[in-house]
Amino acid sequence: MTVTAIVKSDNATSLSAEPECETKVTTATAVIDRDALNSNFATIKKLAPHSKVLAVLKANGYGHGMATIAKALPQADAFGVARIDEALSLRAEGVTKPIVLLEGFFAPEEINILAVNNLQTIVHNQAQLDAICQAKLDEPLKVWLKIDTGMHRLGIAPEQFQHFYQTLSAQPNVQKPIVLMSHMGCADDTDNQFSGEQIAQFDQLTAGLAEERSMANSAGICAWPNSHYQWLRPGLMLYGVSPMLKQNATELAIKPVMTLKASVIAIRQVKAGETVGYGAAWQAQQDTHIGVIAIGYGDGYPRHAGNGTPVLLNGRRVPLVGRVSMDMITVDLGPNANDQLGDVATLWGQGLPVEEIAEHAGTIPYELLCNITRRVQMLTN
Ligand SMILES: *Cc1c(COP(=O)(O)O)cnc(C)c1O
Repeated sequence: MTVTAIVKSDNATSLSAEPECETKVTTATAVIDRDALNSNFATIKKLAPHSKVLAVLKANGYGHGMATIAKALPQADAFGVARIDEALSLRAEGVTKPIVLLEGFFAPEEINILAVNNLQTIVHNQAQLDAICQAKLDEPLKVWLKIDTGMHRLGIAPEQFQHFYQTLSAQPNVQKPIVLMSHMGCADDTDNQFSGEQIAQFDQLTAGLAEERSMANSAGICAWPNSHYQWLRPGLMLYGVSPMLKQNATELAIKPVMTLKASVIAIRQVKAGETVGYGAAWQAQQDTHIGVIAIGYGDGYPRHAGNGTPVLLNGRRVPLVGRVSMDMITVDLGPNANDQLGDVATLWGQGLPVEEIAEHAGTIPYELLCNITRRVQMLTN
């Protein structure tokens, strides 16, 4: 079943961002905007013109489709993924650019897979170092050495740096130069001293070495120019979502890449005092119209989105009311609604930042984006 719907924007005063476009929306559809992606990439280059960009594609490109994003970014210098299977799926799709495993390999047997598929690896522990030294390789591996500067998740301790660095430098299985890297824990918060301390420690450890360096995620790119070095590692920002606590996407000159849509499949009247949905969790205060939209937590719409979470429909925001179901949500269209069956609603994206929806659901935009399920139709503009 394919419904062709026209998304209108005749209410230009409130929603000039909603484009007049024709989109095939079956039930739940994520429209991926490659122009927005390229524009976000350009914004990153403007902030750090002398740095190379490793575009982070883990978790299916933050839910946008890993191969779609990789192919839409020929200007990226490399791609970053979390796991070998993600890297191999990119290779199977014909992606030939350098790919870096951001958590390194998990078992020594995997080293030969890296070598054969031209994958680069992070090294963050002794077991990985030992495995690289003992491997029998035809070609040396490209290695990124991860140093823990305070986040205390992955990375070698600063005291171990000399040992790791000297071992890797002397190791024929390792390509030179090595990339030295660290990861920032609080870069989204410009008031937090922690980032400055992390950068200072990283500088102090790596000063004067003839290697490339990398520290900045999206928030580092936006707020901490001293973290830029030779390699940036943007994820969220590429997808047009603000990584900062106190700056929105517009202020950062980035645009949402994913717009999530679904259609209205029922409109009904409810009377004041009647309830809607599971647990009778919402009660109408006045006679009104309820719109039922064909998307739910089975598609990745957050079940914890509360009453009042905005949904964009026919040029205005309508509030979610009642509990999110697996396949449906209910919205209050108001007593004088003109909406029709088949009208297409935007759940987030152009005109409705996913950051806002995340706040209503008590989570972060990263989680909403990568929770999009396979049932959601992916369309690329
Ligand atoms: C996921 C990840 C990034 C990207 O982070 P964003 O906040 O999405 O920009 C950068 N570096 C590493 C090591 C990562 O794992």
